[in-house]
Amino acid sequence: MEMSSKLLQKAVEEISQLPGIGKRTALRLALHLLKQPQEQSLHLAEAIKKMREEIQFCRKCHNISDVEVCEICANPSRDESLICVVEDVRDVMAIENTGLFKGLYHVLGGKISPIDGIGPGQLNITTLVEKVRTGVVKELIFALSPTMEGDTTNFYIYKQIKGSDVVTSTIARGIAVGDELEFADEVTLGRSIMHRVPFESSLKNN
Ligand SMILES: [Zn+2]
Repeated sequence: MEMSSKLLQKAVEEISQLPGIGKRTALRLALHLLKQPQEQSLHLAEAIKKMREEIQFCRKCHNISDVEVCEICANPSRDESLICVVEDVRDVMAIENTGLFKGLYHVLGGKISPIDGIGPGQLNITTLVEKVRTGVVKELIFALSPTMEGDTTNFYIYKQIKGSDVVTSTIARGIAVGDELEFADEVTLGRSIMHRVPFESSLKNN
């Protein structure tokens, strides 16, 4: 797309890098940014810059946070003996929205997927195993998407912590097999955490 302004062209190129945004939509958005008051566009730019520069990952659970330890981990009324293992921060948000879970989280940052070249080493698994070894944790709830990659990841972690006294459970399969967790409705998701089943029994079913 040749444009009369190189500056506009550059902005369109950058915007079109975003997922789901083609060149035409990018142009529409860029022109919108030009049309709205300058201040508003600059607020957007500043928000993106600040988010990129200042956001952190919680030292304890790897959730997104503005400070070293996230609000959930820092909350003394949460049950630190109960850890819900999730794939990414969107799952934390989805489960928090149910309002039914009072334990803590551990964000893996993805799931084991040999096809995509993601091995256990690229995920936050070591810190989870260390957490289990401290003896504070009584139960791990695997709340990964019920896909093959999710199951592989659950099983890998299960093997890593075998021999410890920690109970492992997996969310009840009210979530349709193959569904991504973040798309589950809150009622279904909340219910599947409350009705979780021992991880071993989910292995036998497979
Ligand atoms: Zn945290």
